[in-house]
Amino acid sequence: MSRPKIIAGNWKMNCTPAETKELITSLIASEKSESEIVTIVCPPFTSLSVASELLSESSIKLGAQNLSEHESGAYTAEISAGMLIAAGVKYVIIGHSERRQYYHENDSLINAKLKAALNNGLLPIFCVGESLKEREAGKSQKVVSGQLLNGMDGLSLENMRNLTVAYEPVWAIGSGKTATPKMAQDMHKYIRENLAKIEPAIASSTPILYGGSVKADNAVGLFSQPDIDGALVGGASLSADSFMKIIEAA
Ligand code: PEP
Repeated sequence: MSRPKIIAGNWKMNCTPAETKELITSLIASEKSESEIVTIVCPPFTSLSVASELLSESSIKLGAQNLSEHESGAYTAEISAGMLIAAGVKYVIIGHSERRQYYHENDSLINAKLKAALNNGLLPIFCVGESLKEREAGKSQKVVSGQLLNGMDGLSLENMRNLTVAYEPVWAIGSGKTATPKMAQDMHKYIRENLAKIEPAIASSTPILYGGSVKADNAVGLFSQPDIDGALVGGASLSADSFMKIIEAA
């Protein structure tokens, strides 16, 4: 089954609205109209409305980096799925390792966030990945399969069809260390096998992105692997030139 190639940029806590305007204007200027790559940018919340306006005539899609598991109410500083949709957002990153590590998001919260996103029509980019300690202890597969199983608990088939998974080994994020194409492929294949156990109907159709220090020069090797359907890019998505080069490699 053919799957879309997806390149998503996670801007993290970078870019004011003015800087967002500058970066998106450069991306639009170098966008290839005939490209079949699904390109997504995920600016911080405060830049979503300016990004949405700028992208209205572009094929580049807008994503957010997080959302609340709640629909509305007394949850100071939280942002709901409905608010994201009203701001023009289509995709949302859920379960990023920085959220798991620094903000103590666990599998059950991530499961609730996936449900909140999917039930409101947002398309989640669901992140999984092991730490260095877990890899060195030979636990990578166990950790990733647990994150998948717990995160996807209770999702309907219809909802599962709207998921994109991102495999992001924590030790490769922002570290300049990338998984080799073979290491990444082995885990992507394992993820696909786990998806088949959770719901056979989605295994071959779910895009699985790799994330962790993806740059133009390592992207080609990663994208040549059969189970790698694109990338979630952090640092290299903050420059139009380096992000475009990764898109060209896809
Ligand atoms: C990320 O944070 O999702 C990421 C992959 O970051 P980087 O590309 O900077 O390693």
